[in-house]
Amino acid sequence: MKLAVIEGDGIGKEVIPVALEVLAAFELGIEKVPLELGYARWQRTGAALTAADLELIKECDAVLFGAITTIPDPNYKSILLTLRKELELYANIRPIKPLPGITGVTGRRDFDFVIVRENTEGLYSGLEELHEDLAYTRRVISRKGSERIAKAACELAKKRANKLTIVHKSNVIKADKLFLDVCRETAKTYGVEASDMLVDAMAYSLMTQPEKYDVVVTTNLYGDILSDMSGALVGSLGLLPSANLGEKYAFFEPVHGSAPDIAGQGIANPLAAILCVKMLLEWAGDARALLLDEAIAHVLQKKIITPDLGGTAKTADVGHAVVEYLRSRGTNLNV
Ligand code: ATP
Repeated sequence: MKLAVIEGDGIGKEVIPVALEVLAAFELGIEKVPLELGYARWQRTGAALTAADLELIKECDAVLFGAITTIPDPNYKSILLTLRKELELYANIRPIKPLPGITGVTGRRDFDFVIVRENTEGLYSGLEELHEDLAYTRRVISRKGSERIAKAACELAKKRANKLTIVHKSNVIKADKLFLDVCRETAKTYGVEASDMLVDAMAYSLMTQPEKYDVVVTTNLYGDILSDMSGALVGSLGLLPSANLGEKYAFFEPVHGSAPDIAGQGIANPLAAILCVKMLLEWAGDARALLLDEAIAHVLQKKIITPDLGGTAKTADVGHAVVEYLRSRGTNLNV
């Protein structure tokens, strides 16, 4: 497998090296293609992502990505949005479930759901106009875009509890009616039990009744907001991984951003990035992905945790503890 590695900015530079150490323990013989992209490079060279970078990425099978700072400068185009569009990574899969011994703000641990976020259109269409006294961003919902994300969500629901919740705001935003209708039709075709929720009610319900949900499908911005909120449910944004999937490429990234407030201190939680390695192994069909659940449970039980979880461990300490566990246990499933 050829893997493009993009650390990016801020804590991306701290958590991705740890994820790579963990990946190395599985001895997959992966060919790594490191790429320096992001805001720091834009500041230095004026180009955050070039056509040549894109070609290199397209030659790889998968991407491991840290985080990139997106600044509110009209001349700076979000690389992440460009990559998601160029690689047609339309399905952003975000599993939300508690880790052993960790509780979030609600104190609850009885949930296990997946947010399936449409990744290429909605309010992140990039079709915008910024004038002095007026600004527009066009929210795009297409049948094709809605259908392919609905199919991805239904296929996932089939492997889980066969339950789908469609999140929208079609009472106010008319474009959402198309999304809702297409998702309902698709669920019917797949024989998946579908219900729907308005996004504002869903935000409340995810915090108060998270156990009710299994697969949640939604548009780009709602998925972005609901998944960060779910970080509070799990205990830290530093615990949520995600996979961006398309027909050709797979792109793994923590849900969190570059966290400039803690960057450079070596205290970022690397578990989201390590869980991205787990998703990568699963995507590659490697059953040893499950060993990472064991390894993470081990470090949490030993309280080798970063300050966001109330500990004093450094990013690297957590990574070393995970690798040490894998080495002592052996990454052969039969050991
Ligand atoms: P960006 O602009 O790149 O999205 P941000 O700071 O707006 O960065 P996040 O990076 O998602 O957004 O961070 C939100 C909050 O969560 C910050 O207070 C940050 O310190 C915290 N946080 C995010 N990721 C982690 C992590 N891996 N470990 C610890 N804290 C984290």
